[in-house]
Amino acid sequence: MNDNCGRNIRYLRLSVTDLCNLRCAYCMPAEGVEKLSHGEILSVEEIGEIVAAAAECGIEKVRITGGEPLVRRGIMEICRLCASTRGIKEVVLTTNGVRLAEWAGQLREAGVSRVNISLDTLKAGKYKEITRLGSIDDVFRGMDAAKAAGFEKLKLNAVLIGGFNDDEIPDFVALTRDEDIEVRFIELMPIGECAGWDKSRFIASDAVLKAVPELEPAGASGVARLYKVRGHKGSVGLISPISSHFCSVCDRIRVTADGRLKPCLHSAEEIKLKGLHGEELKAAVEAAIKSKPKGHRLNQAASESARSMFRIGG
Ligand code: SAM
Ligand code: SF4
Repeated sequence: MNDNCGRNIRYLRLSVTDLCNLRCAYCMPAEGVEKLSHGEILSVEEIGEIVAAAAECGIEKVRITGGEPLVRRGIMEICRLCASTRGIKEVVLTTNGVRLAEWAGQLREAGVSRVNISLDTLKAGKYKEITRLGSIDDVFRGMDAAKAAGFEKLKLNAVLIGGFNDDEIPDFVALTRDEDIEVRFIELMPIGECAGWDKSRFIASDAVLKAVPELEPAGASGVARLYKVRGHKGSVGLISPISSHFCSVCDRIRVTADGRLKPCLHSAEEIKLKGLHGEELKAAVEAAIKSKPKGHRLNQAASESARSMFRIGG
C-alpha cells in the first residue's frame, strides 16, 4: 500500500533477536547487551501474525535480520512461516555468516531465497579487531556452504570505515572478478555505538569509485547504485544513506525484536504491535505505513532513533 508520500511500501525488515555472537565496534558495546526477557521478545506465533498483517497491507518481501538471526531459537520455523505467508513473495536474510555453515542448507529448504553476509575486512586480524569475537574463517566457510546449498548471487556487505577498511576497497572489488557476487559498500551511519566517532571514520561511498576508477555504472538494485569492472562476473553496489540518501524511494518498514514497528530507521517514532491481534494489528500496521516520515536528516545531524542498529535490525 502507499504511504502518505505516495511511496509503495512493500518491504519489511524483521529483527528476530537483538542478541549477537559478535560485538562489531560500531554496532554493539564490548560487554554485550542486557538480554530482553522471554516475555518481551516476539514469539514465533506473534511474528507469524505480524508478517501476515503486513502482507495484508501490501508487504511482499521480508528480510530477516537482528542482532544475529542465526542465534535466535526457532529461526528455521520463523523463515518457514514467513515464506509460507500468503502474499509474501520473497524471504531473504542478513547474517554475519559465522554460523552459516551450520544452517545454509536448512535455510534454503525453509524458503529463504537469498542471504546477505556482512564482512567489513578480508584480513583475519582486522576481523577479530572490528568484531571483537569473530573468526574470519567461519565466515569464509559460511560463504562456501551458502554456495554449496544453492544460494545464487551472494551479497557481501562491507560498512566503509575511514582508516580501517578504505585501503581494502580494491581487494573487495577483486572478489567480483571470478564470481557472480555483489560486493556492497555501505556508508557508516552515526547511530548507536559509533554516533560519537570522529568524522574521519565516516567516508562517502564515492571513495570506492576513486579507489577503483575502472568501475563503470551498471544500473541500480534496490537502494544500491551498481557498478562493474568490465569483464568481471560480479558487481559492486554503493549504498549511500548519508551522501545521497534514498528516502524518496524508500519502500521499507522495520519491526524490532520486541515488536515495535519503526516506519523510518532514523526517526524516534515506534508503534507497539506486541499484544495486538487480528483487525487491531492490521489497523496499526496500516496507520504506521501511512505515517512514514518523508525523510531523515542524517547528512546534517545524528540519527534521532533512540535505538542502536542491533536493536532495530540494520
Ligand atoms: N548481525 C547481522 C549482520 O551483521 O549482518 C544482521 C544485523 S546487522 C545490524 C545488519 C547490518 O547493519 C550489517 O551489515 C552491519 O554491518 C550494518 N550496520 C550496523 N551498524 C551500522 C551503522 N552504524 N551504519 C551502517 N551499517 C551498520
Ligand atoms: Fe552483531 Fe551484526 Fe551488529 Fe556485528 S553488525 S554486532 S554482527 S548485529
